[in-house]
Amino acid sequence: MPHRTIPGARGRVRPITVLGDRVLREPCRDVTEFGPELARLVEDMFATMYAARGVGLAANQVGEPLRVFVYDCPDDEDVRHLGHVVNPRLLEADGVVIRGPEGCLSLPGLEAGTERFDRAVVEGFTVSGEPVRVEGTGWFARCLQHECDHLAGGLYVDRLSGRRHRRVMRQVARAPWG
Ligand SMILES: [Zn+2]
Repeated sequence: MPHRTIPGARGRVRPITVLGDRVLREPCRDVTEFGPELARLVEDMFATMYAARGVGLAANQVGEPLRVFVYDCPDDEDVRHLGHVVNPRLLEADGVVIRGPEGCLSLPGLEAGTERFDRAVVEGFTVSGEPVRVEGTGWFARCLQHECDHLAGGLYVDRLSGRRHRRVMRQVARAPWG
């Protein structure tokens, strides 16, 4: 087997921003420099995501207002999806709408039934500037939509309404980080 570097192996685990941090609420900027700094950021994001046992992480969750996310996420058929996207665009989100449990490393310990499309297609670039297209269904489609929301300054709680929204916001108020 050819030797391949494990993503995040050389990265630094960074503190994760939580709900209330402004950087989570502002749209991130497009990446314009595809250099070593970007590669280092992606490495740090993988290291941080794995340390926190997450399946996806957006750059503003480590305090960088840039349009980048990483993922290591299974779909509903247990196929593993691993990668990163720079300057992603959510090209398609369709199929049935499914309400499923969703959480976020920026609201640690909480989750709520959140509606998402069952299929999503994201296009963007790799750290070296190569075009990339990622297609996902099920749990992975949820992840792709969740990370795209982050980069626009959104959070899954924005997609809740009524009782579900009130319940999770009460839990936020009681949370040690809230
Ligand atoms: Zn999140």
